[in-house]
Amino acid sequence: MQKRRRIVLLFGLGIVLPSLLLGYLAFRGIQNDRALVEKERLEDTRRAADRVTRAVDDAMTTAEETLAKTIAELSEKPSAELAPALEKVAAVNPLVEQFFYLQDFKEVRLPLAKLLYLADGRREAGSSPPPGLSNPAEIQAAERLEFQQKDYPGALGGYRQALKNANDPRLEGLILNAVARVQRKSGLIKEAVSTYENIVQEHGGIIIPGGMPLGPSAGLEICALTRELGDLAKSLQTSLGLYKSLFGREWTLERAEFDFFTQRAKTLIEEVLAGQPRGLDLAAFQSKLRTLEAEEAEQRNKTERMIAFEEGAAPALEAKLRGGTDEPNRPFSRLAFEVRNHSYLSSIMRPTVPAGGASNAAWGIIIDTERLRENSLRPALRDNFRPSETTWAVIGKDGAAVLSSENPPAGPVTLRTDFVSNTPDWTLEFHQPPPRLIRTFLLSRRGLYSFVFLLIAGILVFGLALTIRSVSHELELARMKSDFVSTVSHEFKSPLTSIRQLAEMLQSGRVPSEERRKQYYDVLLEQSERLALLTDNILSLAKIEEGRAEFAFETTDVSALLDSVVSSFRERVRHEGFDIELKVQGPIPPFAVDRNALSQAITNLIDNAIKYSADSRLVVVGASVEEQTLAIAVQDFGVGIKKEDIDRVFERFFRGGDELTRTVKGSGLGLTLVKEIVEAHRGRVQVESEPGKGSVFSIRLPLPQGKES
Ligand code: ADP
Repeated sequence: MQKRRRIVLLFGLGIVLPSLLLGYLAFRGIQNDRALVEKERLEDTRRAADRVTRAVDDAMTTAEETLAKTIAELSEKPSAELAPALEKVAAVNPLVEQFFYLQDFKEVRLPLAKLLYLADGRREAGSSPPPGLSNPAEIQAAERLEFQQKDYPGALGGYRQALKNANDPRLEGLILNAVARVQRKSGLIKEAVSTYENIVQEHGGIIIPGGMPLGPSAGLEICALTRELGDLAKSLQTSLGLYKSLFGREWTLERAEFDFFTQRAKTLIEEVLAGQPRGLDLAAFQSKLRTLEAEEAEQRNKTERMIAFEEGAAPALEAKLRGGTDEPNRPFSRLAFEVRNHSYLSSIMRPTVPAGGASNAAWGIIIDTERLRENSLRPALRDNFRPSETTWAVIGKDGAAVLSSENPPAGPVTLRTDFVSNTPDWTLEFHQPPPRLIRTFLLSRRGLYSFVFLLIAGILVFGLALTIRSVSHELELARMKSDFVSTVSHEFKSPLTSIRQLAEMLQSGRVPSEERRKQYYDVLLEQSERLALLTDNILSLAKIEEGRAEFAFETTDVSALLDSVVSSFRERVRHEGFDIELKVQGPIPPFAVDRNALSQAITNLIDNAIKYSADSRLVVVGASVEEQTLAIAVQDFGVGIKKEDIDRVFERFFRGGDELTRTVKGSGLGLTLVKEIVEAHRGRVQVESEPGKGSVFSIRLPLPQGKES
């Protein structure tokens, strides 16, 4: 079994070890390939990300350039033309949220901003009536009648008189307001309502000496009075109308005023609705109110955003303008900043320094980041990245995603990039799952890996088959050898035993008849011949195996040789009743053979023929010359050879598997030796056999050229 261990060791060293090595190398190769794939992919991502940031940059640049062009064109013209021109630019450029003007680097103006209201204290004076007009004598007299003497008819007359003499529309508005007030005090409610309506229509824009415009306060009065009159439908409609008109920017209100009026209007509406008056479509009013409230919230938001910019952007803008240029080729500086929780992305045009000295005014744009995101960033991301491979997210300054791919971002962040000039202050994050090992293997541009793995698989399968074959072969050989030892010892022992017994009997003189003695001598001869054959076979084969065999070729008369072998056999087996026929056809030319060896081969064949004859008692030995070949055939009519054994009978130690054959003693060496000897004569040995009918073993030896009979 040492052999088996050797085979396993060889298998390990010769096949498993190289396979493992190859496998490891291929695995490393795949890993390298994967790293390469990853690197290339990262570079692709980076290039695509650059295209995205450039697309955003381009969109901003376009907006900036249109502004620059407009301003350059209009700088010579009167400033009145600038606003409409800018409005046109803004209309065609969706990225422009607002234009702004920075005066003296300190004050921000938004010429196009449509604000719902102004910040408190920002309304410019000038629309209130001139102080000279505010209190003519007639009005003062009427006021005295109204407030001190409570003479309302008198006061009314006084105001009416003053109205006739008034020559300023602002004064007219104020007097009408007083008229309506007195009408109300004196119970002339309907009249008061129509006076207020007149004020709203004709004098709504007039500012009362406290600063309030007349229109909204007159509107509020109408609402209250119509409610007093019980005309709830009208009251509601007027309140809603007033509320709505407040978004119309009909009046320039400050925040506190806007709050006051909207609050009052809403309260009036809600109070009426709370009474659940019959005959009115309350739900319709209710829903109108909600719509208006939503609009108010939205507009307020925008207004607050613009007010915050107006009030708080100057320092950031100024710092940017004074802080030098980040990109010298751009006429615009970009900056993202925050004022009171509002974030702005803006572009400010650096003032071209006029010949005279420094200019401290600049134009700029507030970029609409939502549009920038939706119109430029999103399409650029969609066009440059395949959603199946790359997911992305745009992270805002607060760390929350402001935009992300359709498939939610998955896998580790492979690339993070900011925008040109750091604006807008978003970060792009790209996620890609790591490339799969199997995928890399299959898609590897070097088919080498598949080849290597196939090779390894091939080697392993081949090695396994080889090992199994050689192991089983070795096992079979081992079995045969052990069979050989036991049979050979038997082979030796039984003839020796019978020789000894017969010799003893002969020596003791106890053999009764001469005939019996003769018989004993025959048996003694046969047994010792058998021993001699066996010993010869073993020795010859051992010599051949070790390469020590030397064949002595001598020109020989083969017929004579056959005759002598057959004769000696006849002698030997005559007592068993065997008939050995020799049939030589035609003359056989003498040629060079090793006499001893050839005799031994033929002896073995005849010996087998006798051994496996069973009940048959005939063996035929034939010789003939056909086509330059000498054919010697030994035929018996015995047990024959099974089909599955026939190819193996010449193998070393092989013994037929048949029970019948097994009862016959043998070593499994005879035919091996025959084959070796015949092949040494450059001939061939063949067998034809049919179980139960007998076998024919034929030796064919090539005759030397020109010696044909
Ligand atoms: P053995 O000593 O067993 O005869 P051989 O090498 O001479 O060894 O023969 C090998 C085997 O071939 C035998 O065991 C037997 O099974 C088979 N065999 C050989 N000659 C004959 C024959 N003439 N008839 C039947 N079987 C034969």
